[in-house]
Amino acid sequence: MKAESNVLSSEAPMPRRRTRQAVVGKVRIGGGAPVVIQSMTNTDTEDDFGTAMQVAQLARAGSEIVRITVNTREAAAAVPKIRERLLAMDIDVPLVGDFHFNGHKLLAEHPACAEALAKLRINPGNVGKGARRDEQFAQMIEVAARYGKPVRIGVNWGSLDQSLLARLMDENARRAQPKDATALMREAMVASALESAAKAEEYGLRGDAIVLSCKVSGVQDLIAIYRELAVRCDYPLHLGLTEAGMGSKGIVASTAALSVLLQEGIGDTIRISLTPEPNGDRTREVIVGQEILQTMGLRAFVPLVAACPGCGRTTSTYFQELAQDIQSHVREQMPKWRLERVGVENMTLAVMGCVVNGPGESKHASIGISLPGTGEAPVAPVYIDGERALTLRGNNISAEFKALVDAYVTRTYAARAPESAPE
Ligand code: SF4
Repeated sequence: MKAESNVLSSEAPMPRRRTRQAVVGKVRIGGGAPVVIQSMTNTDTEDDFGTAMQVAQLARAGSEIVRITVNTREAAAAVPKIRERLLAMDIDVPLVGDFHFNGHKLLAEHPACAEALAKLRINPGNVGKGARRDEQFAQMIEVAARYGKPVRIGVNWGSLDQSLLARLMDENARRAQPKDATALMREAMVASALESAAKAEEYGLRGDAIVLSCKVSGVQDLIAIYRELAVRCDYPLHLGLTEAGMGSKGIVASTAALSVLLQEGIGDTIRISLTPEPNGDRTREVIVGQEILQTMGLRAFVPLVAACPGCGRTTSTYFQELAQDIQSHVREQMPKWRLERVGVENMTLAVMGCVVNGPGESKHASIGISLPGTGEAPVAPVYIDGERALTLRGNNISAEFKALVDAYVTRTYAARAPESAPE
């Protein structure tokens, strides 16, 4: 039996550098904890049933924290109901309330909302104008401190604090060598986060109850800003490329930005801000986040399936169908496997189109199959733990290979004691 491997031990590519750790419900952020996956609902929070159902869906897909917008009195009143509905479904995922403009009022009028949330997200650019800005920010921080809730100070370049930007522009104009507009915007993002965090501590929030984020939509901007933040503070950092976009553009942009930072040990929690296709699946952002962390070797969530791209040697769609079938099978079985088998997420599979690279790749996987390419004998050799184990033939290769995978899981990964079931 294989022991559970800890991919976050010294084998991880880079150590996490944040020394402070925020506790969000049962989840730890920073201070050496595994990088946490977050997501956000797009339902109307006033619809407590619909929102609870989407939170449940995101949590089941692997979101370890879920953010919901709290924008109206009715939404604030719905938050405790959402929490109750989730607990009734046996889902204890921490909920984060996203507050803007009227957050101070909503939190004051709905203490049950503050109690039901595990964390507050406050955008310092959207808490009010002029003298009321600090007062309203202080009111929200006081609620967080009173209820023992951590706060993410989430700066967003689309709603950057204009008074701070004006101040920095004035200071910049007086410099002998003024910074350019890009450098100034980046500095304003970092300053907004750090100054707000300092104020939050002044207003009574513990330093280990603060998480920072500075989201922009440009990859190079995001990398530069987070490198600066990582040097200038030791609060846990939430990473995300805001408005990443739809489909492959959103995935590629998010992956490019986050991978650079994660590889440098920057980032304690991530969210992939994908725009879903109409009627698309919101859980896509969770799966992409998991795949980024897993392919970087930072965490393991689900067995990875390596598949070749196919070429002129695979003239039918059979190979693609088998690769998709195996991938779906693994995703479907994983919730059960994860509860029952220790370390199964570290299993690797290979589905290859022909014998050119098939056997070689299969040997490196826990279990791999090479399908016959054009002109090859109609047989599919299967490798298990690096050894050629058997050959599949005929019309039932997909079902037989899935049965071999299931048997491999049962044989290889130790049964989990009920009390050690992951949450
Ligand atoms: S393994 Fe075979 S089918 Fe797959 S890409 Fe390589 S040559 Fe083509």
